[in-house]
Amino acid sequence: MIKVLYPGSFDPITYGHMNIIEQACNLFDEVVVAIMYNSKKTSMFSVNERISLIEDLYKDNPKVKVVSDTGATIDLALKCGCNAIVRGLRTLSDFEYEIQMSQINKQLSQNKVNTISLFAESNLENVSSSMVKEILSLNKDISNYVPEIVKKAMMQKLMI
Ligand code: ADP
Repeated sequence: MIKVLYPGSFDPITYGHMNIIEQACNLFDEVVVAIMYNSKKTSMFSVNERISLIEDLYKDNPKVKVVSDTGATIDLALKCGCNAIVRGLRTLSDFEYEIQMSQINKQLSQNKVNTISLFAESNLENVSSSMVKEILSLNKDISNYVPEIVKKAMMQKLMI
């Protein structure tokens, strides 16, 4: 049984994240979506709100689990018994950061946990949570980037 950890901030989840989750579900037996947070950082959604949006979207998919943590991703991967960390690659700058993180996490886990990079779908490679927040704050439609329940929750936050 291959179980992978998919860490990120997911503030909020977008179709870009969901495409990576879908690719991971096609490859592995269990995908643990991990909301990694730092309580000192400001976010649009609380950790519990982020968890419930993701749980709601995947309520019919038993392969997807959702957890949250403030510590090191590698510790969580080991604690959850994950065989690998999954990350999504959009741009060259993602690649430079991810290669460093993957090497560090491999060393920190004594070669136990590898990182698997999956590529963003070409029409989603410019989608990030921060970009979607910015577009909505300009009163533009975000339906191409996030599912309806996320769009509604974001509009409520901004009282649009
Ligand atoms: P962001 O705030 O940049 O959207 P997160 O920290 O929530 O990012 O991202 C978690 C993981 O998902 C990272 O590996 C990130 O590269 C990946 N990811 C985010 N958006 C996309 C996308 N549109 N396509 C592919 N991977 C993505």
